[in-house]
Amino acid sequence: TAFPESRTVVLTGAASPRGIGRASAHYLAERGWNVGIIDLDAAAAAQVAEEIAAEHGVQAAGAGADVADEAQVRAAFDELEAALPQLVALVNLAGVSSPVPYLEVSSEEWHRVLDINLGGTHHATRRAVESMVRNGVGRVVSLSSVSAQRGGGTYSKTAYSAAKAGIIGFSRSVARELGHAGITVNVISPGPIDTDIMGGTLTEERKTAMAADGVLPRIGTPQDIAAAIAYFISADAGFVTGQTLNVDGGLYMH
Ligand code: NAD
Repeated sequence: TAFPESRTVVLTGAASPRGIGRASAHYLAERGWNVGIIDLDAAAAAQVAEEIAAEHGVQAAGAGADVADEAQVRAAFDELEAALPQLVALVNLAGVSSPVPYLEVSSEEWHRVLDINLGGTHHATRRAVESMVRNGVGRVVSLSSVSAQRGGGTYSKTAYSAAKAGIIGFSRSVARELGHAGITVNVISPGPIDTDIMGGTLTEERKTAMAADGVLPRIGTPQDIAAAIAYFISADAGFVTGQTLNVDGGLYMH
């Protein structure tokens, strides 16, 4: 099935001001994508959508949902699909960090981190692919982390590493089941990116130390990730599925 000219990408976790999601939404809108934003705060999501529509002349809409809550996610998609052109792509960015040492991880923390990062990815993917299967074309990209592959070592620890590693297995499995329907499913695994997810611990000194661990002499920017997302959801990437692309300055080579 053809990739439609008028197409929409939905991004979860795209309302935080310095986050990867918001930067990616702008990057994709600049390249002609209409944009749906899902984030915890409906007003913040709507505001980012408004700013995108004004700046790039595309259609955009925002909806509030806690991605850990499947009913809220489904309602948000219903709202966005009613307002925007054909849903072609989903980007799962909603996530939370967890720097808690393993011996201090409570049951609550474990479930919080798994429910948002991995459960949220499943809830949004499940709802989005229902539409994509009907349309005969789709792109799903989810954010893992170098933390999944190296066993932490950057900021977050076990619960986060487990959730982000889960996203890789989950994505490969959905890719295998839904390839016949024209849907590709891929993963981006960023190294440290300059956003607010590390809770104010990302000082200049810390950035230098993290960069020194990799091959390239800097940490990443949200635009580094946006460019990889743009590739995976493009029409041209239709023969690429089940893959994990590390965008991490050479921190993890495999
Ligand atoms: P961020 O904190 O700026 O953005 C995360 C977004 O997710 C926020 O807008 C937040 O409101 C939203 N969110 C959190 N919990 C939610 C929930 N329950 N329901 C809906 N939305 C929720 O962080 P970021 O650095 O832009 O991270 C984006 C993604 O990239 C995350 O999945 C993160 O794990 C991943 N990642 C980031 C880095 C990094 O160094 N920044 C590295 C590897 C992976």
